[in-house]
Amino acid sequence: MEHFWSRGWADNSSLVGHLQQYGVIKSSRVADVMQKIDRGLFVPEGNSPYLDTPMAIGYNATISAPHMHATCLELLKEHLQPGMRALDIGSGTGYLTACFAMMVAPQGRAVGVDHIPELVTVSIENVKKSEAALLLADGNLSLHVGDGRLGWPDLAPYDAIHVGAAAPEVPKPLIEQLKPGGRMVIPVGDFFQDLQVIDKQLDGSLKVHSETSVRYVPLTSSQEQLHGH
Ligand code: SAH
Repeated sequence: MEHFWSRGWADNSSLVGHLQQYGVIKSSRVADVMQKIDRGLFVPEGNSPYLDTPMAIGYNATISAPHMHATCLELLKEHLQPGMRALDIGSGTGYLTACFAMMVAPQGRAVGVDHIPELVTVSIENVKKSEAALLLADGNLSLHVGDGRLGWPDLAPYDAIHVGAAAPEVPKPLIEQLKPGGRMVIPVGDFFQDLQVIDKQLDGSLKVHSETSVRYVPLTSSQEQLHGH
């Protein structure tokens, strides 16, 4: 394994190897997709992309830490089988949307939604540089500007929904857009947040458990995110 230094691992492959060694990545499917989607293409220049920490991406947003990306992919992997549909709310850099698209390919569909137009533009550029570029060109992956609290009804219902920003409570449209048998992973709370895993049973009822404590940026209005009111 590559030497770890203060600016992080030397490359994406060493970072993924480390996450595997420490048991954060448990499956070969998650390891494969994180190997293929190079985090270095999604982190703004001047940062150390292979450090296991969140990083500022502008507009009061961050790209989540690699161990959080890995945790969410592990929690959702059964719902990211080829042919399935995935929704990524607060898609930010587009990193996880790209991972979802790779996992549901070739017939599946991955949709990302963020409310900051500039971030959506950058995320599309990021994806174009990555292994997921063809999926974007073919329409299997799309990134949209919108209020993620409303979900993305056009392609509902979804097998997997990931929310990358913390909501005070789970937005109802997201529950409605989750397929029976599907799973949502969403941080819930204000300052202290639980990463909740919500399984919609085939009869439509919900089973909820808290996986771990997290700190994400809030799922809010763009006005509040950019100006604090
Ligand atoms: N998973 C992303 C996380 C980005 S941070 C990544 O790892 O790159 C959370 C994102 O949620 C920010 O980009 C922010 O702009 C977005 N966000 C916050 N509230 C939102 C809302 N109501 N609708 C859509 N996006 C929202």
